[in-house]
Amino acid sequence: MVNFKDFDFAGKKAIVRVDFNVPLNEKGEITDDTRIRGALPTLKKILADGGALIIMSHMGKPKGKVNPKLSLGQIANAVAAALGTPVKFAPDCADASTAAEALKPGEVLLLENLRFYPEEEGKPVGIDKTDPAYDAAKKEMKARQAEFAEKLASYADVYVNDAFGTAHRRHASTAVIADYFDAEHKMLGLLMEKEVVAIDNVLRNARHPFTAIIGGSKVSSKLAVIKNLLDKVDNLIIGGGMGFTFIKAQGGHIGDSLHEDDLMDEALGIIAAAKAKGVNLALSSRTVAADSFSNDANRQEVDIFNIPDGWEGMDAGEESLARWREIILASKTILWNGPVGVFEFENFAHGTGEIAKYVAEATRNGAYSLIGGGDSVAAVNKFGLADRVSYVSTGGGAMLEAIEGKVLPGVAAIKGE
Ligand code: AMP
Repeated sequence: MVNFKDFDFAGKKAIVRVDFNVPLNEKGEITDDTRIRGALPTLKKILADGGALIIMSHMGKPKGKVNPKLSLGQIANAVAAALGTPVKFAPDCADASTAAEALKPGEVLLLENLRFYPEEEGKPVGIDKTDPAYDAAKKEMKARQAEFAEKLASYADVYVNDAFGTAHRRHASTAVIADYFDAEHKMLGLLMEKEVVAIDNVLRNARHPFTAIIGGSKVSSKLAVIKNLLDKVDNLIIGGGMGFTFIKAQGGHIGDSLHEDDLMDEALGIIAAAKAKGVNLALSSRTVAADSFSNDANRQEVDIFNIPDGWEGMDAGEESLARWREIILASKTILWNGPVGVFEFENFAHGTGEIAKYVAEATRNGAYSLIGGGDSVAAVNKFGLADRVSYVSTGGGAMLEAIEGKVLPGVAAIKGE
């Protein structure tokens, strides 16, 4: 595989898949440009080398149809400002050959939203999975997806994937396109490389003790993650809404707390597996309960096995936090995904803020810490600690799938794994 940093883009046209799926307000203005800033090192290096740049991305979920509200044309000026150079716009991503051919070194062409074409995602449209004709439709769509990817590939000499947020999808622009470049002309961009290295650091090269902190609302969405981590970690802290399923499964009385009855057996299985594998499973012992799901609810700290009826656990109690703090501070590698309470409510954000502080403190003492998943990233940002942890992942879904142990199609397409 070629290393992006060592590649000389002089005189070459590079097509770069970025994640410019930025939030827009009603006027079409960008409200958070983190994703654009994230891709700048890759884009600037290509231009500085004397290469020409073709940028492609998706925005939102247009479901294979043109939707002006999701046009990337709206962000062309912002991209130009960020790059410090004019940006041409190709209003049809599948019909940009002329514009691409005319590009000179140092010039930039931004393609329209890839997902205006159903071929990008490659899923048959307007037909249900149960329809007998579904398989044939899927096959036809896969052929069209390959054609679409080949078209995109024809615009450039080199393919760079810098869109970690979509690396877990086998889409035309994230994976299929790589088939049309030889191994010397496709590579991961700088942002993508950083993400892959960060995840490798925790999954393959972790220093021990290795602690994973898994929180959030549901066990179901993180079951595969938890199972894969049981083979890797020394400590597994489970907090937040998902913790109550574990408590109820053990016979605890959890009042009105969030839980999933159909996952109680799975929870008991995880408890048993942790024991068998020698993993210290650190569930919460005390919780801050509320008498309604609201910021202004009455509150009381209670034993998590004895939550009164009419009350629900909303945040981690002091005793749980003290125990988790000790574990986190003794760790050399920390992975955190998901808040340990309803951190969106100011009055129940304390536990999640404390965890962010402990992770920052452990990092200062030399631990490697990786934070990922939309809500935990929002939490470290909320508490102003993003620059005090080792790495904050930009791709929630992609990071979770990587932690589940899956090979990401966007990475595999380039590395040939
Ligand atoms: P997830 O997307 O699965 O990481 O879950 C994040 C969500 O979990 C956040 O919106 C939190 O408010 C929510 N959450 C965390 N702890 C609790 C809890 N004890 N009860 C209800 N929701 C919770």
